[in-house]
Amino acid sequence: KEKGAGALRRQASSAFAVNGFSSAPTSSQRLSGKVAVITGGASGIGKATAAEFVRNGARVIIADVQDDLGRAVAAELSAATYTRCDVTDEAQVAAAVDLTVELHGRLDVMFNNAGIPRDLSPTPLGSVDLRDFDRVMAVNARGVVAGVKHAARVMVPRRRGSIICTASTAAVLGGVVAAPAYPVSKAAVAGLVRATAGELARSGVRINAVSPHAVPTPLMMDTMALWYPGMGGEELRRIVEKELNEMVGHVLEAEDIARAALYLASDDAKYVSGQNLVVDGGFTVNKAPNMPAAPGLHH
Ligand code: NAD
Repeated sequence: KEKGAGALRRQASSAFAVNGFSSAPTSSQRLSGKVAVITGGASGIGKATAAEFVRNGARVIIADVQDDLGRAVAAELSAATYTRCDVTDEAQVAAAVDLTVELHGRLDVMFNNAGIPRDLSPTPLGSVDLRDFDRVMAVNARGVVAGVKHAARVMVPRRRGSIICTASTAAVLGGVVAAPAYPVSKAAVAGLVRATAGELARSGVRINAVSPHAVPTPLMMDTMALWYPGMGGEELRRIVEKELNEMVGHVLEAEDIARAALYLASDDAKYVSGQNLVVDGGFTVNKAPNMPAAPGLHH
């Protein structure tokens, strides 16, 4: 038998080769054969995730209320279908899940991602409009409950599946990041994931949240335009990429969230459930707004 470190390395590398790990992982086929529904899949993070899922071998149902955009995205990605689905209407969520099972025989991944920004501007408590609060909660929180409920309906009997829900760093950050409806709705999503993970685990189904920080999608850019009236698109984008985020040398893109969702959707995450994967370049853990800045730590 060969001895020494060199021999060990050679044995290890041949073991990896046997198991198919000899080359760097490619981005393809991590969802081979899987079927996914993506709510809010016509734009932004949902659209990027639909593309990433299809690239990785999934068949995708894009469920949204923007029919023209949704159809165009589905046509661009050959393994995708568009269906109109307003997540505030439970019957439409149920129908999107049923259509998926009818078309493809199964549902492996449910990405509850549709969301609205309304009421994002910081508002003094005395001016909070409770109708606005209800509208935001209806999409961002209640819509996710409907998605989890109907995904579970078809996943639990098969004893497999991955449910992913888009929360936000707004669910984690305190302080005045927005009027209460948005952060409350996103905290509800993170809470729902924790509240249901145990029950779902007993049926072999996983559920996790993904929490993006500021990504320059239409949702974020429309909000920025309200915050900074008269400012041009390029400058607004720079504020989102550079001033709202902190990671040096990288900007946060919808594709980064798509890849986080890909991980949670794939079997790579087969034992990961009940978590909130925060994709923020360390923003939330670094925020201690009331602390004096440590000398020498700022660039
Ligand atoms: P986006 O506006 O590009 O996409 C949101 C999609 O949701 C749109 O296509 C929209 O038509 C759809 N939608 C809205 N209401 C719906 C409804 N009732 N039923 C079905 N679809 C509906 O924005 P995005 O930034 O890609 O947002 C995706 C998710 O990410 C949202 O939940 C949002 O709150 C969350 N998020 C975004 C950011 C960010 O900075 N962009 C940060 C944290 C969390």
